Amino acid sequence: MAETILFLAHTDADGTLGRIALEALAVAKSLGGTFIAGLIGGAVQPAADSIANCGASRILAVAGEAFANSRYATDAAASEALAKAAQATIVVAPQTSRFARCLAGVAKRLDGCIDTHVTAIAPGPQITRWYYRQRMEALLERTQRPWVILVESGIAPAWGGPAGTATVEMVAVKAATRTRVIGRQSPQTGQQTIRPDAKLLFVAGAGWTRKQADGKPHIDDAARLILGFLHGSEASLGSSKSLVDLSGEGQAVLPFLSHMNQVGQTGSTPRHPKGLATCCHGEEPHVVGWRFIRERRAVNLDPNCGWARGKADVVYVADAFAVMERVNAMLAERSAARRAQA
Ligand SMILES: Cc1cc2nc3c(=O)[nH]c(=O)nc-3n(C[C@H](O)[C@H](O)[C@H](O)COP(=O)(O)OP(=O)(O)OC[C@H]3O[C@@H](n4cnc5c(N)ncnc54)[C@H](O)[C@@H]3O)c2cc1C
Repeated sequence: MAETILFLAHTDADGTLGRIALEALAVAKSLGGTFIAGLIGGAVQPAADSIANCGASRILAVAGEAFANSRYATDAAASEALAKAAQATIVVAPQTSRFARCLAGVAKRLDGCIDTHVTAIAPGPQITRWYYRQRMEALLERTQRPWVILVESGIAPAWGGPAGTATVEMVAVKAATRTRVIGRQSPQTGQQTIRPDAKLLFVAGAGWTRKQADGKPHIDDAARLILGFLHGSEASLGSSKSLVDLSGEGQAVLPFLSHMNQVGQTGSTPRHPKGLATCCHGEEPHVVGWRFIRERRAVNLDPNCGWARGKADVVYVADAFAVMERVNAMLAERSAARRAQA
């Protein structure tokens, strides 16, 4: 059956398309044949221009103040209208929290079906996704149409062709909603430690809170070193379960960590290209969450830690306090040199 593919994306707060949207665009293109782009946002022309040469046969959009912010009613109405205007049989969209909230409802309205957290699409189309906390991989085909497919980040290189001047076909949507967006509240950038787009995952283990060579824990130093490294490297912060569980046991804890940071069997499975584990033993229930991290390194005092048993590419048998102190000093030197050059 000849499919009509719609690449569906919403703009980011600055009006551009984020990396995950451009990755989804590359996935939509890889299905072959012609496809249509559908954009949602406050003002979509800059985003449309950025993908003017992507090969889409049409660029449709629902735009206006009402569509600038994430809101179920307006996002669902806009997505439904774009899918109908494109007469899409396949809708490929990025797995953003904004789309994750509304596209299941859209699939229902279209009398179609949806798959989320998709990690690959082959022509057919045939999708790949994981089940049971990344233990089982399934290949799926469906006959029901339209089929909405939310693709994960990091599964394809972002489309990066030249910008141009796009002709955008506006699709009118009546934004009937009782929900008013009166503002946004999000952690300040400096406090945000989970950064899915970061090149590096930095994992802190419970060793950071343990007694050190002098017989005492050094929580303040641990917090300073970890936050200093995150600030200097813009890495994302992951944690072992033991470290985030400490707060429940009334022990001294690192206040910026929560269960949201936990990586592993009962935590998250992030997709950063590189990972560095510090003061973390590297037990299987933790390391299983590193399944998609391609380059792994660890710093541990124990030469027999789990990382040393084939789970990391490089293990530095060293005191992580000393290592990170030196690494942070090097990062500070580098950024001072950059500032001096600018
Ligand atoms: C059903 C189940 C599900 C689980 N799910 C998860 C999960 O999702 N995620 C998860 O993380 N765990 C999970 N666990 C727990 C997991 O098995 C481990 O207990 C946990 O990962 C251990 O955390 P840790 O390595 O930080 O702490 P520890 O085992 O206490 O290791 C601390 C490490 O720090 C090192 N260290 C101490 N000081 C220094 C220093 N100065 N420099 C360098 N190294 C130092 C020590 O050598 C040690 O190796 C699960 C367990 C079960 C049973």
